[in-house]
Amino acid sequence: MRRTLIAGNWKMNGSLAANSVLLEGISAAAPTDCDLAVCVPAPYLSQAQAALCASAVLWGAQDVSEHESGAYTGEVSASMLKEFGCTYVIVGHSERRSYHGESSELVARKALRALTTGLLPIICVGETLQEREAGLTDAVVVSQLAPVISAVGKQLADVVIAYEPVWAIGTGKTATPEMAQQVHNLIRTTLAKTSVDAADVVQILYGGSMKPDNAKDLLAMSDIDGGLIGGASLKSADFLAIASAVHAA
Ligand code: PEP
Repeated sequence: MRRTLIAGNWKMNGSLAANSVLLEGISAAAPTDCDLAVCVPAPYLSQAQAALCASAVLWGAQDVSEHESGAYTGEVSASMLKEFGCTYVIVGHSERRSYHGESSELVARKALRALTTGLLPIICVGETLQEREAGLTDAVVVSQLAPVISAVGKQLADVVIAYEPVWAIGTGKTATPEMAQQVHNLIRTTLAKTSVDAADVVQILYGGSMKPDNAKDLLAMSDIDGGLIGGASLKSADFLAIASAVHAA
């Protein structure tokens, strides 16, 4: 039985004062029937660690370098994230793929770096609107997964995949539960070609305008094991309402 994970992606939002209120609100009422995590901007990892270390809420980062250490100005290494108690790191978010030109091969190397350092990578995949309208959704998702599957090898069971249709991120448009389930099932079937056991345990999250009012129906689908939440993770009431939908689903 896969445990549900609700992970917040704060993106480049927050301030010490606002985070303090948000972290306090989340940790005070965190449910126990699912895993809850927040992926915060790197400068706030220390604050998240201090605020959450005595709670059941986990925390993580939004990106990681593929390199171990050295002359890579501006980059943050996996071992640095580990020192701040991170459990998760998002890799391959569509905003990094599109604004920073990250290829699926680079995303795979980042995922491997995370795994070898003891972090769980949340690997994002998903098609653009143009690709969906051209009937390319399955091909795009499978091609984004392929380098990850070959890079991580025996550690496949330790990754988290987030299916995030690019057209649904931050737009208020959500994939229907059936549309999302079809791609989640494709992802699991694709993973199963390498390892049936790994495919069975990998958590596959849906991301893209998941909100309190649509979470229950999405989370009720058999291959949707949680959510990666952007905008709605910035208000503790909304984030916790999504987590409560796990129970109702
Ligand atoms: C995201 O950024 O990963 C995301 C899913 O954003 P939103 O929930 O705002 O669509």
